[in-house]
Amino acid sequence: MTADIIPHTSTNAHQPSWQEELATAIRDPAELLKLLNIDPTQLDSSDAAQRVWSIRAPLPYVQRMRKGDINDPLLRQVLPLGAEALSVPGFSNDPLGEEDANPVSGVVHKYFGRALLIISPACAIHCRYCFRRHFPYEDNTLGRSEWQTALDYLANDESISEVIYSGGDPLAANDNFLLWITEQIAAIPHIKRLRIHTRLPLVIPSRIDNNCLHWLTATRLKVVMVWHINHPNEIDHAVEQTALSLKRKGIELLNQSVLLKQVNDSTQTLARLSEKLFEAGIMPYYIHRLDKVAGAAHFDISDEKIQQLQQELLALLPGYLVPRFVYEHAGARAKLPLSLKKADTV
Ligand code: SF4
Repeated sequence: MTADIIPHTSTNAHQPSWQEELATAIRDPAELLKLLNIDPTQLDSSDAAQRVWSIRAPLPYVQRMRKGDINDPLLRQVLPLGAEALSVPGFSNDPLGEEDANPVSGVVHKYFGRALLIISPACAIHCRYCFRRHFPYEDNTLGRSEWQTALDYLANDESISEVIYSGGDPLAANDNFLLWITEQIAAIPHIKRLRIHTRLPLVIPSRIDNNCLHWLTATRLKVVMVWHINHPNEIDHAVEQTALSLKRKGIELLNQSVLLKQVNDSTQTLARLSEKLFEAGIMPYYIHRLDKVAGAAHFDISDEKIQQLQQELLALLPGYLVPRFVYEHAGARAKLPLSLKKADTV
């Protein structure tokens, strides 16, 4: 097995815009494997899984994968596998019961004080473990005029102090729209904070361009960006520089990860992830047990293993670099802690 990283394009070459990077993302598993010098017969890749939910992997992300390594942790996050077609008890299309928390189109309201907007149904990358891989986006994709109902919902509930941009990936929307919707939300007096859950600046760092920085910094709302980074190899120089530029603009940066079998289920990997996040100005915030979404059972890790990882991480890192281990439960009023056995907490 070789472990060469695919070289980045020369700095003298034309630098594609983030929209061009999106448009040229890899959508064919065979093409990705060829680019990585991987013999397709080595993998249990699946046409059926690809048909149900196609691969999408932009080149800036693919360039961080190791050539010739069928176990590359970034590759495993995007490659459709035969295991996705298995029906596994306990895994469902709506593991978090979001369809019951969808009061008006475009809004998911599960937790007190916070409401989530489905800003964009699109993603730059298709993560095979995504808990929204079966979400009914077609019922929650709004035209600008339809947003008024969602905005009225926010305005009429004074308990909501934080709006969360989600999706899909909210940064897949264009900056004109994001500027407009952010202005509408900032005009609602009881809303104080804007939280943006995104994987786009990780996948395509050039997404954070001047147009994006403009609406992020022009608002009166306190902005928190939550990155979704699962493995230290996802953080290259461009990602680090992008994160630091946001931090310098006063944007709070947090990270949440998902525990994924054969991706990040090792203490050393998680410790290295926390260290690299901190160097990039991003605080490790949450690490989630996998949401039991149909098609993702092959990523699941036992509770015993999770407890062991948590215990070992606490012994290895200062407390502020250890993310909170949590899980979500349909109908619960908050994320729930994955508690340690008492003897493990000393
Ligand atoms: S919503 Fe997030 S986790 Fe799901 S596919 Fe899109 S980027 Fe990946």
